[in-house]
Amino acid sequence: MPEQDNPQDKKLTENKKNKKKSRRDFLKGSAIATGTSLAAANVPRVSAVLASESGDSQIAASTTDESDCQPTNPYGARPGGGISLPDYYKPWPAIKNRNMYLPGTEILPQNEMRITFLGSSPWPPNRLQKGTSILVELGNGTSQPRRFFFDLGNGSVGHAIALQVPAPFINDIFISHLHADHYADLPYMYPFRAFSGGFTPLRVYGPSGRTPELGIKSMVEHMRAMNRWHEENFNSCPIGDGFEIQVTEFDWKERNGLCYDQDGVKVRHWPRSHVKDGASAYRLDWEDAGLSFVWTGDGRPDELSAEYGKGADVFVTEGTIDTPTLSALKVGSPSELWEYTIDIYHTMYYAAGYLFKQAQPRMGAICHFEWSGDQLAAESIAQVRSNWDGLFMFGLDLKVINVTKDAIWAREAVIADEAAPASMDPRWFVPPGGKLPEKIEFPTPTMPREVQQEQFLRDLEIDPKLYYPPTMYREPVQKWPGVTLNPREMLKQRGIDYPE
Ligand SMILES: [Zn+2]
Ligand SMILES: [Zn+2]
Repeated sequence: MPEQDNPQDKKLTENKKNKKKSRRDFLKGSAIATGTSLAAANVPRVSAVLASESGDSQIAASTTDESDCQPTNPYGARPGGGISLPDYYKPWPAIKNRNMYLPGTEILPQNEMRITFLGSSPWPPNRLQKGTSILVELGNGTSQPRRFFFDLGNGSVGHAIALQVPAPFINDIFISHLHADHYADLPYMYPFRAFSGGFTPLRVYGPSGRTPELGIKSMVEHMRAMNRWHEENFNSCPIGDGFEIQVTEFDWKERNGLCYDQDGVKVRHWPRSHVKDGASAYRLDWEDAGLSFVWTGDGRPDELSAEYGKGADVFVTEGTIDTPTLSALKVGSPSELWEYTIDIYHTMYYAAGYLFKQAQPRMGAICHFEWSGDQLAAESIAQVRSNWDGLFMFGLDLKVINVTKDAIWAREAVIADEAAPASMDPRWFVPPGGKLPEKIEFPTPTMPREVQQEQFLRDLEIDPKLYYPPTMYREPVQKWPGVTLNPREMLKQRGIDYPE
């Protein structure tokens, strides 16, 4: 076959011709293809890019001058200020350490928002990335800000604990959809939260499904059934109402529906295209502070996210690199599987950038992505940059973004490998800002071990006198003794003055 008759070779020749154009123009061309023709028609990706490329290049040939090719900072010219950073990207006095976030060392001031990525992975799990979860904290000038959790993927709770979030204050959890990478820590967390002093009900929000059994209510009901052994077992300890889960199941179809409206904070939701009905995006608006946050959850780039996410201070979408051929070479699975998965489930980085461009947030971020190492980081960013030249970051685990009306600043949280929460604090038993009572009585366990265990197992326990050195012996405590705390005394012992 003569060379020029082979369509593949023709494309290559065309491609070579187009190489003369600047990198910037090429990215512009592919952006157009991703944004319109690819989404509208079922055109193979390569030819669509080339088609728009060659169309573009004809115009470019007659109009391009040097200045068109100059990358400029969308926030205005600022020598030495970079080409993607606004001048509102700067720290301020409440940021105690400009390079690291040291948990427990900063009081989040009023009207200041802090966003922390607790997990950022869909699959496979790795040491760097836990399952997807984003913590949004709203400052109130106390050591316990108002908290909202968006998704609660596998391993994310460990990061919350390491960040010194008291377990009882893990609450108000907004689940985007029922893929396990977005809620796997829920069945693990809630019984231990109750055990750790979370004696009040948990609040969970999420979409309905096409049928009742596909909604979040049904999931929670079955999760509790799955955990029945665990719940009963822990009922030998003080739990109070900690196992109660109040589920707000909203209609998945609703566009910009309100699912939370309390004390000046509104959370809205809208449906996303993620193969199955029942996937949602969220937007949190904190009215007093005039700050907002968007988490798209998983799904295909869509018009609703572009519309309802408009003007958000921080807009977080999921993302995936679009290099199916390379991914196939790297991982081994066929490129068609990569393409199919991306094209029915996900937002490729080009489209993430496109969404940012539509929504125009003060900062665009991507969470829920496969961190493929430094080799692919540059390519990943280039794909985002094909459409978005504004402030951008990858929301890798433990990245922290502080946001005020005037400024935004991003850092990495520093945690210890053996991280554990601070010692039990009586203030955790009352809602943040709530009045500390004179005494705190622990709830009485409802299922002592005698009612859920055969006597013979207790008879087989080795007599403690045989293993304790005689001087160390203490009488075992095997009946609930009743525990009452004196909160002020506890705080006084730690040198903390609690305002009356
Ligand atoms: Zn996912
Ligand atoms: Zn998903």
